[in-house]
Amino acid sequence: MRQSELRKLPSVDRLIQTETAMALVAQYGRDRTLEALRGALDAARHAILEDDRTAPDDESLVVRAARRLAGELSPSLYPVINATGVIVHTNLGRAPLSPRARQAIERVSKGYSNLEYDIEDGARGSRYMHAADLLTRLTGAEDALVVNNNAAAVLLVLTALAKDRDVLISRSQLIEIGGGFRIPDVMRQSGARLVEVGTTNRTYVHDYEEALHPMNTALILRVHHSNFSITGFVHEPTLAQLVALGEPFAVPVMDDLGSGTLIDTETYGLPHEPTIPESISAGASIVTASGDKLLGGPQAGLILGKADLIGRLRHHPLTRALRVDKTTLAALQATLLIYLEGKAIDEIPVWRMIAAPRQTLARRARKWQRAIRSMGVPVTVVSTGSPVGGGSLPGQTLPTRALALDVPSPHTLAARLRQPNPAQGTPVISRIEDDRLLLDPRTDLPEQDSTLIEMVQAALTASLEQTTSD
Ligand SMILES: *Cc1c(COP(=O)(O)O)cnc(C)c1O
Repeated sequence: MRQSELRKLPSVDRLIQTETAMALVAQYGRDRTLEALRGALDAARHAILEDDRTAPDDESLVVRAARRLAGELSPSLYPVINATGVIVHTNLGRAPLSPRARQAIERVSKGYSNLEYDIEDGARGSRYMHAADLLTRLTGAEDALVVNNNAAAVLLVLTALAKDRDVLISRSQLIEIGGGFRIPDVMRQSGARLVEVGTTNRTYVHDYEEALHPMNTALILRVHHSNFSITGFVHEPTLAQLVALGEPFAVPVMDDLGSGTLIDTETYGLPHEPTIPESISAGASIVTASGDKLLGGPQAGLILGKADLIGRLRHHPLTRALRVDKTTLAALQATLLIYLEGKAIDEIPVWRMIAAPRQTLARRARKWQRAIRSMGVPVTVVSTGSPVGGGSLPGQTLPTRALALDVPSPHTLAARLRQPNPAQGTPVISRIEDDRLLLDPRTDLPEQDSTLIEMVQAALTASLEQTTSD
């Protein structure tokens, strides 16, 4: 059957002579049209061999080539619907921005702005002023600096403050975060000397004390475990203990928080995630955090701490290479103003999602259930958990209500929902649990609800057609 189907596929020379293909040649040129036709033929051949499909007719092959050509001219970066329940999903762009942050980007990007211009003096100003004042007010830090992301923040601090000198770090904190960001590698890149102290599971103040040499030690570094947790026979000193150890020798403590929240996660039934103000008040000289994890703002690396150290960072040549643009600063400033007004839970999407009441989630899941049940698929509203993600609160979830679709092949349906042709709708990213496809309302933006339902209905229709044609 496969061989006979393969034989039915036309040659590219025959396809290019069809009327539809000639129109494509006129629009895109002969070479690009040929390439697209070959691509469509390859895909059809693959579908026959791998999925036992039948050979498409000439016209639909040309239509597929046309779609390829149109696709080449559309952006490869586009919105998707996150129905995974993972709130800070690194692969899906981390934190969605608040309306105010988005408006701020629009406002400063369509024309000129006072990015580096002191309006009162009519002279050059500093771009770093736009966030520093807000950050210090929100965290109690003496000064603050914003760079491209937290990885850049760590690299900058280590380079500027610890090059060719020792940095003490517990063996339990030599972590890798996703995307190949490994603390030992960043340390090597910065030129700082890594001095490992303690063991994987237990590190004490005296381990740091033994490794500390007032002349050689530039920093004591604490790194938040982020995406894993160690339990059982474990010990790490508190930040305050490390600060007390370094103080007499003027060795500063740097705390890389990763998520760096301004709001106490315990309020929402989650375990405690260290906050930026806590680290500052415990005496950390430098605190670093991401702008787009639990802060819920744009991608950025926040560096907060003692004025003299931040001042040194601001004047380091690497800072120029890692600097943020006006759209980032605008969005960050808008986000920080929301915190200052105490409206984060209402306005910042990440926090709205964390704080979403279970009844609201259940109501939305039941609404989806009513819309999808009519398709003849068993759908139930189930109790499960939404992970916060973004390297915060590893292993912890928020209790949620999700819609479970009991289909024979959940992976096939998940692939249909992700359908890679954005011209035909918005891809829906789902999650599979216990052999069922789950849609979690927590991370689906309410305004995307009707699109999500349409996409699920379309994917189910396609699945049913496929089953009947088998
Ligand atoms: C996420 C994380 C980083 C990297 O932050 P980016 O903003 O992604 O560059 C660094 N350190 C810790 C502890 C993290 O959790």
